[in-house]
Amino acid sequence: MRRVLLIFIDGLGMGENDPSLNPLVRFDPPFFRTLFGRPLVRELGTVMSDEVCLVATDAALGVPGLPQSATGQTAIFTGVNAPRRMGCHILGFPGPALAEIIAAHGLLGELSAACFSVTSANMYAADYMELVASRKRRHSVTTLSILGAGQPLRSLAHMAAGEAVYQDITNEMLPRFGVEGVPTVSPDDAGRRLTALAGRHSFTMFEYFQTDRQGHKHNWAEAAKIVANLDGFLAAVHRSAAETLVIITSDHGNFEDFSTKTHTLNPVPTILFGPGCRHVASTISCLTDIKPAIIAYLKEGAEND
Ligand SMILES: [Zn+2]
Repeated sequence: MRRVLLIFIDGLGMGENDPSLNPLVRFDPPFFRTLFGRPLVRELGTVMSDEVCLVATDAALGVPGLPQSATGQTAIFTGVNAPRRMGCHILGFPGPALAEIIAAHGLLGELSAACFSVTSANMYAADYMELVASRKRRHSVTTLSILGAGQPLRSLAHMAAGEAVYQDITNEMLPRFGVEGVPTVSPDDAGRRLTALAGRHSFTMFEYFQTDRQGHKHNWAEAAKIVANLDGFLAAVHRSAAETLVIITSDHGNFEDFSTKTHTLNPVPTILFGPGCRHVASTISCLTDIKPAIIAYLKEGAEND
């Protein structure tokens, strides 16, 4: 059975090879260096091999202006050119028009309808739905995609059983949101939890967005922590993913350029490793290619079973 693990990292582009403005160069995490022989920077371009592929992916989608989260994530999770459909890049959280596109074309919903088991590894705090109902929080594109597939959101009970990962990877941020008493998890353990979940589903996703938050804030000490957490997490995923095709991607640049507090026009890295990575990578050049690539890969596998 084929399996896909999609790790969505908000606001991670391929930027300059310059330690004064790019945290991925200044802190030079070993994971990307192991994969590509140097930091994850724009001059790497596209890399193709049977072991690992990197596609410098277009996030602008032919629409002027800086790419933004609501339309970029809708493009990834629906395959629809959402910024073109809406006439511009839309930031933050999806409104009714984007929610309609997600309901009609969501990746998880479509896979679920084709009888593939799908899940999101992200843990949500117990009061999340209440906060949305009282308009203190809004559903992101990814959350709408999960709910649109009829899937429950993972809870503290899943976390206690080792079957969920919090959005910050380590659980360290949970007390800030009033959730006390949850043990922290090392990035390595979190990575292995994620691949264990991925081993039990046709499609598993995880969303990380601290990169985008810090890309808007520019705190180098926090950026160092983000780079270290991501490095340990992704390295553990790489070591333990076994027969799962792993796809790591982003919606727009931001974290890679501390010379600006806005998003960037840089391409985003789509990194693939695991069975079939080269073929799947060859079908991806922009954000809207990711959903059809995942569906084709899983359907092809099901036909050959
Ligand atoms: Zn942002």
